[in-house]
Amino acid sequence: MLDRLPEMPRRRFTQVLIGGFLGLLLPTFAAPVRAQEELPQDDQVMPELPSPPFIPPSYIDFACYMAHLNSPQIIDRIVATNLNAGRQAVTVSEIIEMFSGEKEVPNVPLFGITLDDGYLSQYTQLAPVLDRRGVPGTFYVMGTGWQGDGVHQYMKTAQIKDLSERGHDIGSHTVNHASLVALRARNFGAYLGEIYSSKAQLEDLIQEEITSIAYPNGSFDQAVIAEATKAGYKGGLTEVVRTRQNIERQMEMGRLRAA
Ligand SMILES: [Zn+2]
Repeated sequence: MLDRLPEMPRRRFTQVLIGGFLGLLLPTFAAPVRAQEELPQDDQVMPELPSPPFIPPSYIDFACYMAHLNSPQIIDRIVATNLNAGRQAVTVSEIIEMFSGEKEVPNVPLFGITLDDGYLSQYTQLAPVLDRRGVPGTFYVMGTGWQGDGVHQYMKTAQIKDLSERGHDIGSHTVNHASLVALRARNFGAYLGEIYSSKAQLEDLIQEEITSIAYPNGSFDQAVIAEATKAGYKGGLTEVVRTRQNIERQMEMGRLRAA
């Protein structure tokens, strides 16, 4: 057999054989020493692995209802129907956190109640319904500079602050319920004020970041989206009917009418 290995001199082959044999024996004697000297310490045993890159969900199944002057019975029925169907209640801020990876997307479809305009009856009649069901709502109110329309009764600043402290989400509905596309053409400075000042006024009031805006009268276009994004909003609510919220359209989420 040795004759068949002309490329390896015999002497070298013998060395390899002996070396291999010793190599098998030696670790038996050397093992206890190695164990003491070279075993890594506890904190070295499991090196920290880099966390995998965050892959945002491309869409979230979020049935987002839009309420105004609805009766408490209607809101209660919508909440009960969705809970019974296995949907989990979340706020718009939570949806934004899911898209950014700050919050895990639950393994069930979601729903939420948004209430536009800051009517006093939402505070006195609808918020208690949500509280009873343990469902946080998202209230799109006008900035603190809003003087009212002389027709309806609106929440006072203390009531908006109270809703926030009770765990409800607060979003911007501009300062004066402005139709943004039309106002931009008429008065660009006022248009910017409606987007930026409402956010600043509400943040000043509740001492939390205002992350979303509901466009009054559903009036928005790509320029409104760009300006609202620049102002720091991460979510925009339209009146387009859609329950599958796409991450590419985070600034134009769809809603369902509460009826
Ligand atoms: Zn409105």
